[in-house]
Amino acid sequence: MERSYKFRIYPNPAQENLIQRTFGSCRYVYNHYLTYRKELYETKGVTANYYECAKNLTSLKQELSWLKEVDAAALQTSLRELDTAFQNFFRGIKQGRKIGYPKFKSKKDRRKSYKSKQSIYVNENTIQLPKLGLVRCRVSRQIQGRILSATVSQTPSGKYYVAVCCTDVDIVPLEKTGKAVGIDVGIHDIAVTSDGVKYTNPKHYEKSLKKLARLERQLSRKSKESNNREKARTKVARLQEHITNQRNDALHKLTTELVREYDTICIEDLASKEMMQNHRMARMVADASFYELRRQLEYKAQWYGKKLATVDRYYPSSQLCSKCGHQNADVKNLSVRKWICPECGEVHHRDVNAAKNILNEGLRLLA
Ligand SMILES: [Zn+2]
Repeated sequence: MERSYKFRIYPNPAQENLIQRTFGSCRYVYNHYLTYRKELYETKGVTANYYECAKNLTSLKQELSWLKEVDAAALQTSLRELDTAFQNFFRGIKQGRKIGYPKFKSKKDRRKSYKSKQSIYVNENTIQLPKLGLVRCRVSRQIQGRILSATVSQTPSGKYYVAVCCTDVDIVPLEKTGKAVGIDVGIHDIAVTSDGVKYTNPKHYEKSLKKLARLERQLSRKSKESNNREKARTKVARLQEHITNQRNDALHKLTTELVREYDTICIEDLASKEMMQNHRMARMVADASFYELRRQLEYKAQWYGKKLATVDRYYPSSQLCSKCGHQNADVKNLSVRKWICPECGEVHHRDVNAAKNILNEGLRLLA
């Protein structure tokens, strides 16, 4: 099994400088070969593949010696990424799907990263990385298996992280429980299960969202390119990251409990329409956490030998009576939290009933 470990790193000023130059060099290589391939295509009608670009990169490094100062693997990964963007584009044309032509990378892009592939060692409080040497690192858990790569990244608020990807990690499957569950990803709560268990939002979460909205309003009033704007932007980024971290911690707790407790987990395949009716900020976060929940369940189910079923989002999970199957259109109104089925008299809690329907539909799909 593969698994990745993400740790915060604290580069010293010289290391930080080199990391920034590596981001810049990767961006330069990406854009340089995007131009190269574009011109080649426009003048000769041919395209250059990854190997031709990689060969060319060797001679480019002779011309531009500063490219030699950064990790060579990072530059190659940047070329690979460009090649993937081209392949997706060409595949899109063949299949008649609209996938955009590869775009130039901008210096203003707030998410920066590069990937190293060799000479990576994780120690107690440091990590050894190519060209950087030993970087101070908060190693929050022991890594297992063989290291494949390390991705160094910087968040919009300026923090540095490393994600160490390992293979041959031994993961012991969890014991089977013979139980199945449906999950309704909520607006009011993070999730509600068909067994009636509610997973609530982290403490102070609503407060943080309100604060974020206020900071964003302040940011929008600052004049462009000013020092104050940069300060306000960092504040927004920091709070956004804090909210995401809080939420992801809660999601990890939830998904780990679910794979422990159940053999089969059923969820909807996309964020529900109900979530889309939320106000912008809450919706954005709810949407992001829906994808994160699904991502975590996918890999944890695979790790621990459990099953995940996804139910089409157009399945009217909230409107159906989970006992008799009667469809009650009155429940469309989101303010209806509790209802009694006019057909069989069952008393329903909105989210639990939805989760039960998701479970029934998921089991039907698996059968
Ligand atoms: Zn009923």
